[in-house]
Amino acid sequence: MDYLPIFLDVKGKKCLVVGGGEVSFRKTTFLLQAGALVTIVSPELSPAFDKLSGITHIAERFKPAHLDGHFLAIAATDDELVNESVSKEAKLRDIPVNVVDNPRLCSFIVPSILDRSPIVVAFSSGGASPVLIRMLRGKLETMIPQAYSQLASFSARFRSMVKTRIVEPAKRRIFWENVFEGPIAEKIFAGDEATAESMLQAMIETESRGVQSPVGEVYLVGAGPGDPDLLTFKALRLMQKADVVLYDNLVSKPILEMTRRDAERIFVGKMRGNHTLPQEGINDLLVRLALEGKRVLRLKGGDPFIFGRGGEEIEKLAEHKILFQVVPGITAASGVSTYAGIPLTHRDYAQSCVFVTGHLKDNSMDLDWEMLARPKQTIVVYMGLQGLEMLCAKLIQHGLPVTTPAAIVQQGTTPHQRVVCGTLADLPENPEVKTLQAPTLIIIGGVVSLRKKLSWFKPDH
Ligand code: SAH
Repeated sequence: MDYLPIFLDVKGKKCLVVGGGEVSFRKTTFLLQAGALVTIVSPELSPAFDKLSGITHIAERFKPAHLDGHFLAIAATDDELVNESVSKEAKLRDIPVNVVDNPRLCSFIVPSILDRSPIVVAFSSGGASPVLIRMLRGKLETMIPQAYSQLASFSARFRSMVKTRIVEPAKRRIFWENVFEGPIAEKIFAGDEATAESMLQAMIETESRGVQSPVGEVYLVGAGPGDPDLLTFKALRLMQKADVVLYDNLVSKPILEMTRRDAERIFVGKMRGNHTLPQEGINDLLVRLALEGKRVLRLKGGDPFIFGRGGEEIEKLAEHKILFQVVPGITAASGVSTYAGIPLTHRDYAQSCVFVTGHLKDNSMDLDWEMLARPKQTIVVYMGLQGLEMLCAKLIQHGLPVTTPAAIVQQGTTPHQRVVCGTLADLPENPEVKTLQAPTLIIIGGVVSLRKKLSWFKPDH
């Protein structure tokens, strides 16, 4: 290692910052956050400093004597000679010194940090590749949610109590692992500290009596329309945590592969028109698995609460008092239209947008046609391909012009995306429509014409 990574306690310690510009301001803020007493030496101060309280300003050019009595020094001026002199004089006095962006003059460097206080992760490449460090930090940023901060403070509150109640270190480690990976942590992430606390108390009770009672939970997670990059951080986190995964046709393969490697995967979708499991069966299975103590992931295409029967699935869980959480996903209307270059609203074409299901029941569609045929409105039809002909005919019958643009998007946001465009009059007859593969989404309205200009996503098939 080129440097010794340490975390320094600067609370109440005198630290000197030389320079009064923006960089100096950033460093000063940083020192203040860690409780340092900051003195700034600079003939002038940028107005940003007005906001800071508790700093001492010496309005002079730097003199070596300014260093006296200081614990640490940072030089952040744009004058090379001043920086050199701060470095040299500090080193002579054995005061750790950092010169911004000049490792040669530094006796310590300031790492890039990820702040989830009290958890702080520090990164450094010793100046070798700041860009790489930024990328790495970005990755960890997604893996460590903001709420880890609350989680760490929460566990700090109970640390000594747990230590006295669960004496054996190995048991205690497992106890904390269960806290951090289980429903208690999820309660903290959801902001419900009171419930988390009573759950923790109960867990300590059972643990100190030596009995294990498994508590399962269910994550109802929206996986978005297909492109794995459209998953939310929360979805990804829960996907990597679950012991069992229930999924159906709408969940794309690359997304499924992002669930935990050793998780059990259960397909509950449709196969050749037959449900492998009717909805009731899925609801019951979720309950059973959770009661067995499993962390169950119910992964759904798009958003679970938009034509996804997510509501029905968790109703049963609520009846059984099983813990669950719901993670919204990007719904097909939003993701697929975006990747097709069709904005759902536009000042010139549409001030409203409706999502409907075009699912045929006994060969008809029970929709409010008057409402749908309003002008300046975009209609997005889920599950509508079978009823396309009827859909277009009804909309024309209720007053939409035959020339109204319409598009069908196949497997939007994936490498297999295809878009067939036309009008209400000619789309049903277009021979290409017959070749489309599920899932498909129909978009109707003036906004569809914008695709000519705005199409940007080029799947490589
Ligand atoms: N909960 C889902 C919708 C489930 S209904 C969501 O929020 O997106 C299933 C219908 O969604 C399909 O019949 C199709 O109309 C639409 N759909 C879902 N993903 C799609 C995709 N990638 N491309 C086109 N349509 C899609």
